[in-house]
Amino acid sequence: MSGTFSCDVLIVGAGIAGLMAAHRLEAAGKVVVVVDREERVGGRILTEHVAGGWADTGAQFFTVRDPEFSRFVAEWLAEGLIFEWSTGWSDGSLLPPADDAHPRYAAYEGLMAVPRRLAQNLTIHKAVNIETVMPAVAGWLAVADSGAAYQCQALILTPPAPLSLALLAAEQVALAAADQAALAAITYAPCLTAVCHINGAINLPEPGALQRPDHPISWIADNQRKGTSPRVCLVSVHVNPMYSRLWWLSPDVELAGALRRELQPFLAANATVQEITIHRWLHAVPTTLHPERTLLAANLPPLAFAGDAFSGPRVEGAALSGLAAAEAILEAIG
Ligand SMILES: Cc1cc2nc3c(=O)[nH]c(=O)nc-3n(C[C@H](O)[C@H](O)[C@H](O)COP(=O)(O)OP(=O)(O)OC[C@H]3O[C@@H](n4cnc5c(N)ncnc54)[C@H](O)[C@@H]3O)c2cc1C
Repeated sequence: MSGTFSCDVLIVGAGIAGLMAAHRLEAAGKVVVVVDREERVGGRILTEHVAGGWADTGAQFFTVRDPEFSRFVAEWLAEGLIFEWSTGWSDGSLLPPADDAHPRYAAYEGLMAVPRRLAQNLTIHKAVNIETVMPAVAGWLAVADSGAAYQCQALILTPPAPLSLALLAAEQVALAAADQAALAAITYAPCLTAVCHINGAINLPEPGALQRPDHPISWIADNQRKGTSPRVCLVSVHVNPMYSRLWWLSPDVELAGALRRELQPFLAANATVQEITIHRWLHAVPTTLHPERTLLAANLPPLAFAGDAFSGPRVEGAALSGLAAAEAILEAIG
């Protein structure tokens, strides 16, 4: 995409934080453009098409604890988009432990159905990789590597914090020292994930998933039993942070070999692993979080930072952060 675009608020990132922010701002009558460097919406919510089925590669489910987020979730439930998959974990299975019985929601067509639903009726420019952002007359100017330019009154940055900081640094935009320090303090753990096409079946506890934080493979989920891949057995696998770091630079073929060995004890009789597709998430989950749901930059035109590293991690935290950033921007621009 090329050309020059104008809007009240530009949101960089069409993950859950950016999409929720856009909803709130549009409801307040603002002209909003959301841009994402990918050809799709969802960010770390990704459902992949493998061997004729669908598998969640990033987020697997989400929780709902906040009343504001639960209003959106009630709509998605009523529309038949999502379903309650489980009410909690205990080590090694999804049976609910006594102290953690929050519902975990999944989507019939894979979790990416949620950002796709949120993206309906929003102005979203996909495959737009923003390279620089800089203060300009009456707001901000953001420029993509394609040359597309966005003039806006206010800006919301939702990429992982190191990427947002790099966008500002590219044009030497100086944040207030406290803001710079707060954003630089945010850290993430990486996660190697894989979708494994199984010829046959895999044995996992109810309802078809296993969580084991202390094992190299910390998560195994059967998308067939989850309902997103009715005809093919596709298994989503997550490697724990320590092994993700250890194996990060290993060639895919070596990783696939290690994953095959780890999966072996779970395969039903005569089942074989047909194909393994590997995905590397560098900023998978935040490990050091900012204490507030958003950060409104001081001494600059209206600029808010949002995402899962702001106060609450994961899908719900990112959603609430997006809403908080939108509120902060509305307050700043009136
Ligand atoms: C493997 C894995 C498993 C997970 N499992 C769960 C789970 O089961 N439950 C749960 O609740 N959470 C889970 N999470 C976390 C959850 O996915 C995230 O917390 C949430 O999706 C983050 O949303 P976000 O909008 O903050 O960021 P993102 O989804 O990362 O969105 C940021 C967007 O910014 C875009 N972007 C970045 N730089 C630029 C640029 N320069 N120009 C344009 N666009 C740009 C990116 O393409 C991306 O789409 C998991 C995450 C991973 C990686």
